[in-house]
Amino acid sequence: MHNPACPLCAPDDTQHLIWRNDQLRVIAVNSTEFPGYTRVIWHQHVAEMTDLDNAARQHIMEAVWAVETMMRQWLAPSKVNLAQFGNQVPHLHWHVIPRWQQDTHFPEAIWATAPVRSEQQQQQWSAMKAHKENLLPAYHEALRLALDALRF
Ligand SMILES: [Zn+2]
Repeated sequence: MHNPACPLCAPDDTQHLIWRNDQLRVIAVNSTEFPGYTRVIWHQHVAEMTDLDNAARQHIMEAVWAVETMMRQWLAPSKVNLAQFGNQVPHLHWHVIPRWQQDTHFPEAIWATAPVRSEQQQQQWSAMKAHKENLLPAYHEALRLALDALRF
C-alpha cells in the first residue's frame, strides 16, 4: 500500500534515518527545540494501530520501547512523551519525545502554547539543550544496536 500524496510513503527523511528494516524505520526528527525527538514510522500506508495484525502491532511497539529505553539511558529526560495522532498525515507513526522540566513547553505537550519563561529559565534550558545535543550521536548509536538486537 502506497499513497502518492502521503509524505511518509515517499521517505525524503532518509538523511535523518537512524535505523530501518523491512517493516519500519526510525528517524531523528530535525528539532531545534527538542533534542532527541525520535519518530518510528511504519512503512506501509495504514492509519491506525488496529489496521495491523497482532504480530505487526507487537513489532512496532517493541521498536517504540527500544527508543524509549535508549532515550532514558542516554538522554535522561524528566519524562518521555509517546504520541500517535496521524490527524494531519494518516500514516502510522509514533512520536517519542524526551521532555525535561526545563524545556520550552514542560509540563504542556510540545504542540501546546509554550508557557511563559523567565530569561534565567531560557538560559538554563539553552545550556541544558546544548549538553543533550552533544549526547545525540551516542544515543543514536546505542539505539541502532538495541534495534539490531531485537531480531524481529
Ligand atoms: Zn503513507
